[in-house]
Amino acid sequence: MARFDNVIVGGGLAAGMVAQEYRGAGGDGSVLLIGREAHPPYHRPPLTKGFLRGEEPVEDTYVHSLDEWRELDVELRLSTEVAAIDPAAHTVELVDGERIEYGRLALATGSTPRTLGEAATIRVIEDSQRVGALLETGSGHLGVIGGGFVGVEAAASARMKGLDVTLVAPEPVLWSHLFGEQVGAYFQGHMERHGVRVLTGRKTLPDGDYDMILAGIGVTPNIELARNAGLPTNHGVLADDRLAAAPDIWVAGDIAEYQSVIHDRRIRIEHWDVALNHGSYIGKSWAGAEQGPYQVVPYFFSDIGDWTWMEYVGPGDRDDTVEVRGSMDDDDFVAYYSNADGKLTACLAVNRGDELNAARELIASGGGVPA
Ligand SMILES: Cc1cc2nc3c(=O)[nH]c(=O)nc-3n(C[C@H](O)[C@H](O)[C@H](O)COP(=O)(O)OP(=O)(O)OC[C@H]3O[C@@H](n4cnc5c(N)ncnc54)[C@H](O)[C@@H]3O)c2cc1C
Repeated sequence: MARFDNVIVGGGLAAGMVAQEYRGAGGDGSVLLIGREAHPPYHRPPLTKGFLRGEEPVEDTYVHSLDEWRELDVELRLSTEVAAIDPAAHTVELVDGERIEYGRLALATGSTPRTLGEAATIRVIEDSQRVGALLETGSGHLGVIGGGFVGVEAAASARMKGLDVTLVAPEPVLWSHLFGEQVGAYFQGHMERHGVRVLTGRKTLPDGDYDMILAGIGVTPNIELARNAGLPTNHGVLADDRLAAAPDIWVAGDIAEYQSVIHDRRIRIEHWDVALNHGSYIGKSWAGAEQGPYQVVPYFFSDIGDWTWMEYVGPGDRDDTVEVRGSMDDDDFVAYYSNADGKLTACLAVNRGDELNAARELIASGGGVPA
């Protein structure tokens, strides 16, 4: 049976970062990364943005090329699925029955989009290529069901390419469930001004001729592997404040429901920067370069075509008080979210990086909304 000091299951960003940062911090044990997809670890945000619009080649989405992974002395087993983990024996079993022994194991198996009948979804490069082929024609009608980030971003990209786009979302205002009605109306306004037909308060598309229907109705974290191995799970895989789920097993990215020392509760976040930082933290920990708990304030960003964008630190809560400062008309504002105790819980910024960074510090230190 083959043995590796470090085995990483899942070939996404979090997995790639574990390997990269382990090597970067001087880790010199053997590293095997096992991923189900045919691609080396890559960034998914371009799949609804530049890559979807045909503006960048697939290689630009890759964290590293195959040559770079070789130079890092990280062995990749792509198009390979792990079927089971045996924590007691310290082994993983591949779908073809091969077993591999590990010293340390990281699980970063990501998420799977929820589906709606025959509607398309975008999670992997091939999904984006499929939708992108329609966008490339520069005409046609795209129907989008769901007002999540993937649906909204893809709708904006399709409109940029000249398609008619109709988007339905159950909320009264787009993203109001995430950021409040005032901020949601700002993003919805951008979509509408650029010609996306946004229909809120409904879950189904009106009758019409659609060349493609895209569902953006959220994802389900891939936790079966961990659950079947007896690891503690809830919506995600439960981990402590060092992202450890069991002896010699760590979890990262979308599946990690970790104890946040900043928020003093368990949180699970499905965003790029979190996957990046989780992976980085685990890689450094394995190399002995990180001793303290994981304490990064979760951050994410979203681009609405090339019309506007946002950055956010938090996460806030639905019941938080929202205070907007600046000018939405000039795409230059910040929204502060605070809880009943007056503590700053989140901050959304449009072209206000300084305020966002200050808010990040305040959230980490338990401060209030800045004066
Ligand atoms: C289209 C799209 C756009 C996005 N845009 C943004 C954005 O603008 N901003 C933002 O903050 N976030 C964005 N995100 C979210 C962000 O990309 C994810 O949170 C991030 O990819 C999570 O990384 P991960 O490594 O945890 O999981 P993933 O990236 O999902 O990678 C997990 C990998 O593990 C593999 N795997 C699963 N099970 C097994 C198994 N048993 N054996 C082997 N391999 C397995 C999967 O096939 C997958 O390749 C976007 C996501 C999508 C899909």
